[in-house]
Amino acid sequence: MSEPIYAAVMAGMLGLLLGSFLNVCSFRWPNDESVVSPRSHCPSCDQMLPWYDNIPVLSYFILRGRCRSCRTTISMQYPLAELTTGVIWAGLFWYHGLSGEALRGALFLTILFGIALTDARYYIIPDEFSLGGLVLGLAAAFLPGGLTALEAVLGAALGFGLLMAVAQAGKWAFKKDAMGGGDIKMMAMIGAFLGIPGALLTIFLGALLGSVVFGPISWKTGKLVPFGIFLSAGAAITYGWGGDIIGWYVSTILEM
Ligand SMILES: [Zn+2]
Repeated sequence: MSEPIYAAVMAGMLGLLLGSFLNVCSFRWPNDESVVSPRSHCPSCDQMLPWYDNIPVLSYFILRGRCRSCRTTISMQYPLAELTTGVIWAGLFWYHGLSGEALRGALFLTILFGIALTDARYYIIPDEFSLGGLVLGLAAAFLPGGLTALEAVLGAALGFGLLMAVAQAGKWAFKKDAMGGGDIKMMAMIGAFLGIPGALLTIFLGALLGSVVFGPISWKTGKLVPFGIFLSAGAAITYGWGGDIIGWYVSTILEM
């Protein structure tokens, strides 16, 4: 096998395992439970899972989506999240080859995906993802390629400051918390990975997607907008195509 294919296959396998761990994190961190103990068990009958019932994606299909001992349906989130994380890791190492940028991008998209999973289910963005991710993002700036350490620090500061200002303005205007502290910490993490231009584009895309996609639902049902999901989507789009979008904006809008 040539090097990129080999790197992609190995990274994809690692991604499947990380996806399995990401599921555990997304169910336990919002409830302040340890992700190490107890070991993987059925949430319904508490039966510990033997290793062969805990293989990413495969076990779900071998078990036909049901617990071996109590036959309760297993959430589709397990195989889907494992597969998605596997695709993220395989895709980035395929695209960038065995490199620092592949690792940086795969870590970033995995954290964003974990945040989207927890925010969708619990309306919570665990500090482990946001603050833990902030530390990873700052550390990743020392990998070759990508941002400089200064750009990462400035991006984190801007992301944090801007969302803090929006939250304060929202509180003043609506007399209640319009934005959670989780979103603010998450935006610091995103800024550390994307720098100042990327952080600005993420906030713009997140607000746009949030109001277009969830605005009508929120209006009808009174449900809060899980803004973390839309910031995640905005940040993923910015990571992939931000340079093109900003370049297009500068050349067609600003230079008209
Ligand atoms: Zn069970």
